[in-house]
Amino acid sequence: MHDNLIGGDWVGSSSLLSNINPSDITENVGNYAKASQADVARAAEAARAAFPAWRNATAQLRADILAAAGEEILARRDELGALLAREEGKVLAEAIGEVVRAGRIFRFFAGEAVRTPGEILPQVRLGVDVEVTREPVGVVGIITPWNFPIAIPAWKIAPALAFGNCVLFKPSELTPAMGWMLTDILLRAGLPRGVLSLLMGEGRDVGAALVETVDAISFTGSVQTGHSIMAAASQRMPKLQLEMGGKNPLIVLDDADLTLAAEVAANGAFGQTGQRCTASSRLIVTAGIHDRFVAALQERLEAFVVDNAMKPGSQIGPVIDQRQLDKNQNYIEIAKSEGAKVYGGELLQRDTPGFYMRPCLFLETNSGMRINREEIFGPIASVVRAANYEEALAIANDTEYGLSAGICTTSLKYAQHFRRHVEAGLAMVNLPTAGLDYHAPFGGTKASSFGPREQGSYAVDFYTVTKTAYISPG
Ligand code: NAD
Repeated sequence: MHDNLIGGDWVGSSSLLSNINPSDITENVGNYAKASQADVARAAEAARAAFPAWRNATAQLRADILAAAGEEILARRDELGALLAREEGKVLAEAIGEVVRAGRIFRFFAGEAVRTPGEILPQVRLGVDVEVTREPVGVVGIITPWNFPIAIPAWKIAPALAFGNCVLFKPSELTPAMGWMLTDILLRAGLPRGVLSLLMGEGRDVGAALVETVDAISFTGSVQTGHSIMAAASQRMPKLQLEMGGKNPLIVLDDADLTLAAEVAANGAFGQTGQRCTASSRLIVTAGIHDRFVAALQERLEAFVVDNAMKPGSQIGPVIDQRQLDKNQNYIEIAKSEGAKVYGGELLQRDTPGFYMRPCLFLETNSGMRINREEIFGPIASVVRAANYEEALAIANDTEYGLSAGICTTSLKYAQHFRRHVEAGLAMVNLPTAGLDYHAPFGGTKASSFGPREQGSYAVDFYTVTKTAYISPG
C-alpha cells in the first residue's frame, strides 16, 4: 500500500488505485491510495503555510535538494526503470532512458536554481535604477499524463521547486508508482514539510479539485482535458501552462536518403508504441519516392519485435490499457470505412496476457479523413501522398495541432523553408519528430499548447513572475 503525501505526512485511504501491468494483466504492480477532496484542501493549506520559508530559502539549499534527488534517481536507474516498464509498458531500455533523463533534469534545474534570473536596467531614468527580479508564483498544481510518468513530472516539479514554489502533484491514475517514487525521493532529499504534496487519484475528482485551489497549473495531457481545465480555471484565472496532443507530420521528399527516412519514420511513428505526443503520425511522402519509402517502412514494421516490456529483445511494448487498445482497433475500422488500405494492426497473443497489437500503417489516405485529423495515440501512422514539396507543406499545416513536425530531405533550401513555414513548435530535419532534449524549450502552437514554454532556461517564465522596481536614492 502506497499513501499520499500531504503536508509532510503519508496519509492512507480506504479507496485504492490498482496498477495493472499492461504487458501482463495478471500482475498488479501495486496499490495506491486515492486522495479525497479533504486531502487536496489540507495539502493546499500546508503548501501555503510552507511557502514563505521556502521562497526565502537560499537558492543553494534548493539546488542541493534537487541535485541530491537527481543523483538518487540516476543511481537507482535500473530499479526505477524496471518499475516504469512494468507499470506503463515501455520497453526496459526506453524506461531506463526515461529515468536517466529525469535524473539529469533535476541536476540541470539544480544549476538553474542558483543562476539568479534578474537584471538591472541602469539608464532608463536618470538617477533611478530599474531592477527586474523574478519571484515564485506560489502554489503550483502539476497534473501529468501516463506516457512519461517520471520525465514529465521531473520537467515540471524541478523548475517549480528550483524557483521557490510549493507543489501539489497529481500523477496520472494509470501510473501512480513513478509519481510515488519521485515524491519519496524528493522528500528524503530534504524538502521541508508541505513544500511538495502527492495527490493520487482520478482527474475528474482529485485533478478538478486541485485546479480550484492553486495559483498556477502546469498540465500535460489531452486537448479535451486541457479545455476543461481552462474552463474551470477561468473563474479564478490562475497562471496556466497546457501541453496537449499532436498530429505530427513527417514529410519525406523525393531527394531524401531512403534508408534514413525509413528509419526516422519507423522510430518517430512506432518508438514507445507510438504513445508520444510528438509521434510522427502523418507521413507525407512525395510521389517519386512514395512506393520505395512505403516498402522500406513495411520491411521495418515486419522486423519489429512486439512483446512484454521486460523481455530482452522486445522493441515495442503493449499499449497502455484495454480502452486504448479498443480505441486503436476502432480507428482501424474507421480507416477502412474511409477508404484507406490497412497494413498490420492485428491483435497479438504473447506468453503473458497483455494489450499487444502489431504496428499499423494506413495507406492511400488523404488529409480530410478522420484518421488524419484526430490524435490516435497508438502504434499507428498514416501515409499521405503529395505531388511535391509545396503540397506536402500545405498538408503538414492542414491540422488543428502544431506540436512537432519533421522533414527528410537532402536539400538545404527545402529544410530552411520548412523550418520557417511549418506551423509547429518543433521542427526536425532528418530526425524523428519525437526525442527531444531537456536543455531546449519545448512546446507547440495552435491547439497543442497554451502558455509559456517548458524546459531549458525558458522554464523560468512559467514558474516565476517578474517584479519591476524603480529605485531612487532619494
Ligand atoms: P488525459 O488528459 O486523459 O490526462 C492527463 C492528466 O489529467 C491525468 O493526470 C488525469 O487524471 C488528469 N485529468 C483528467 N481530467 C481532468 C480534469 N477534469 N481536471 C484536472 N485533471 C484532469 O491524458 P492522458 O491520456 O493521461 O495522456 C495522453 C495525452 O497527453 C495525449 O493527448 C498526448 O498527446 C498528451 N501528451 C502531451 C505532451 C506534450 O508535452 N504536449 C506530452 C505527453 C502527452
